[in-house]
Amino acid sequence: MIDTHIHLDDERYRDDLDTVLEHAKEGGVNKFVIPGADPKTLERAIEIAESYEEVYFAVGVHPYDMQNFENLEFEKYVHHGKCVAIGECGLDYFRLEGSDEEKELEKQRQKEVFIAQIELAKKYKKPLIVHIRDASRDSKELLLKHNAGEVGGVLHCYNADDELLSLANEGFYFGIGGVVTFKNAKKLVNVLGKIPQEKLLVETDGPYLTPTPHRGERNEPLYTTLVAQKMADLLEIPYENMENITTNNALNLFDIS
Ligand SMILES: [Zn+2]
Ligand SMILES: [Zn+2]
Repeated sequence: MIDTHIHLDDERYRDDLDTVLEHAKEGGVNKFVIPGADPKTLERAIEIAESYEEVYFAVGVHPYDMQNFENLEFEKYVHHGKCVAIGECGLDYFRLEGSDEEKELEKQRQKEVFIAQIELAKKYKKPLIVHIRDASRDSKELLLKHNAGEVGGVLHCYNADDELLSLANEGFYFGIGGVVTFKNAKKLVNVLGKIPQEKLLVETDGPYLTPTPHRGERNEPLYTTLVAQKMADLLEIPYENMENITTNNALNLFDIS
């Protein structure tokens, strides 16, 4: 199985990365994709991808780290043999601050940086890892307007908004993570069956969003299995099928073998 979104470059994995990956592999999770978020940790992501055959990375800038976008030399990373995607990029209106005017400016800035990364994805023919929080309508509009379907991608940590479902027809996959195991995940639980199975991906987003019953602890790639198990239960299909379906989907999307 593949953990399609795991921040192994986070310092919380620095001391025991070997063990973390070993545990994951023992549990059947044997490939990992590190999304780009803050360019400051990108070198660490590459170092990990170069040290571990089963680790891949993406280059991109998270909406919370946009101030570093201009200084990031995409060309330097995008041609690396282990670079499988552009992102995570997108729109996140969850913690906008200040006056209405300031909020509007921040949104505009996020959109510019997102559009720039959609264009880079098309230029380098890499799929997108898209982060959307409280910004479904604007995100969808930009993805469609800028023909992101040319390369497709994953709506990581899919927020369960119905209006994003049609992006399945534009080459987009839906990354399901630990949230699906939460007691209050009704919306996601209800929408899960509406996602075409050939568009389902599993992720942890570790070290964040730790699934039940480990909430409060650091998230681990091993817990990809807990997410997949919950998805299999909800969709009433055998675990092995869920494993096969989501693994094949991830291999297709990221073009890895
Ligand atoms: Zn994210
Ligand atoms: Zn993330």
